[in-house]
Amino acid sequence: MVACVYHPIYSVPFPSKHRFRMEKFRLLYERLLRTRIITKNDIVSPEPVTQEMIKIAHSQDYVDNFFANNLDVKRAKRIGLPWSEQLALRATYSIGGTLLTAKLALENGIACHLAGGTHHSHFNFGSGFCIFNDLAITALTLIEQQLADLIFILDCDVHQGDGTATIFQNNTDVFTCSIHCKNNFPLQKPDSDLDIALEKDIGDDEYMVALRQGLSAMLEFEPDLVIYDAGVDVHEDDALGKLSMTSQGIAARDYLVLKTCVDNGVPVATVIGGGYHKNLDGLVRRHCVIHEQARQFV
Ligand SMILES: [Zn+2]
Repeated sequence: MVACVYHPIYSVPFPSKHRFRMEKFRLLYERLLRTRIITKNDIVSPEPVTQEMIKIAHSQDYVDNFFANNLDVKRAKRIGLPWSEQLALRATYSIGGTLLTAKLALENGIACHLAGGTHHSHFNFGSGFCIFNDLAITALTLIEQQLADLIFILDCDVHQGDGTATIFQNNTDVFTCSIHCKNNFPLQKPDSDLDIALEKDIGDDEYMVALRQGLSAMLEFEPDLVIYDAGVDVHEDDALGKLSMTSQGIAARDYLVLKTCVDNGVPVATVIGGGYHKNLDGLVRRHCVIHEQARQFV
């Protein structure tokens, strides 16, 4: 079984004209079931994390003020999502979802989250539609609970994982690897352990060369777990991506990541990462790819 972690709260009521399409999580869940990529038996529901648990990766000041809707205008604006009680609650479930996915991956080899990948969130502020950093909270919690010693975060979202990079700057237990488009958000790209910055409009073949480099670093690190951000904003039709990957290219990318992990006995937890388009149908189809590829390893 490849567990699929999902909660209906992932698609909270949200302004429909917003660039961040909150309904995509529900549509992804529905499409995965409709196309029989997954069955209801594969679905596992997460518990929310507590505010205390979030503070393993974020400052008390940021966490307390976010939940009280008391952030200064600058920090509130930098997140880019309109605050609501529901949105705050959603964040706790979504982080709980990535944590649960990681635990299920440690048990079963592969597990997939139908959300997650909020890599622009830093210790003291959120940014770029990312409130708290689920990747960082998950990695630090697993290490604290002694469920893993070494964790490799493979971030294939088209945007650099700046928040993850800064949170783990002085942490040798977590290796951060970001493969991203060089001419894209965020403007300032603090160093990950390995950054592979790609030129604009790179297509499938060149991307795979970069991915192989990232996977070699992973094998050398010998992690107990890989957390894989399978962002689909690398796609040629993405509204924000600036790379030119095809859907087949994304499938080949996801397959190679999973196969390398499975062949080397490394558990892998996947999160969906970024993906932006007015046409939700195409976008949701692209987010299905990682789940489809994961099914090949059942
Ligand atoms: Zn992105």
